[in-house]
Amino acid sequence: MNNITLMMIKPDGVENGHIGNILEKATSSGFKIKALKLTQLTQQDAEHFYSVHKERPFYIELVAFMTRGPIVAAILEKENAVSDFRTLIGATNPKEAADGTIRKLYATSMGENAVHGSDSDENAAIEAAFHFAKRERF
Ligand code: GDP
Repeated sequence: MNNITLMMIKPDGVENGHIGNILEKATSSGFKIKALKLTQLTQQDAEHFYSVHKERPFYIELVAFMTRGPIVAAILEKENAVSDFRTLIGATNPKEAADGTIRKLYATSMGENAVHGSDSDENAAIEAAFHFAKRERF
C-alpha cells in the first residue's frame, strides 16, 4: 500500500504561524490526518532522523534548525501519499518550487523550508513509527 506519508511542519513554519494554513492545504488536497502532534525534536532525535545527511556540509545547521523550536508531526493518508505530498510541498529550494506549493507559499530558504515529506514508502513507515506510538495512530 502506497498510502501514508510523514509530514513535519518545521520550526520556521510553526514560528511564522503557518500550522493552520499547511494543515488546510494538506486536507483540501485530499490527505486525511491519521496522527497529529506538536512536539520538539531533541538533538539526538534530529541527528537520527537526518542521519542520511550526516556527511553533508549543512548537517550541523540542519540539526540546529530542526531542534530550535516545536514542530508539528503528522501521518497523512491518501493514495500515492508519498509522491503526491512531495508534489504538494514543492522543490527543496523554495526559489525553485512551483507556484501554489507549500514551500513556494511558506518557505524562506533552502534550509528553512517549512515542511518535510517522506521520500519513499519505506521511509514513511520508519518516520511514522519514529514519531507516533500505536495508540496515537488512527
Ligand atoms: P527534501 O527531501 O526536499 O526535504 O530535501 P533533502 O532530503 O535533500 O534535504 C533534507 C533537508 O535538509 C531539506 O529539506 C532542508 O531543510 C535541508 N537542506 C537541504 N539542502 C540544504 C542546504 O544546501 N543548506 C541547508 N542549510 N539546508 C539544506
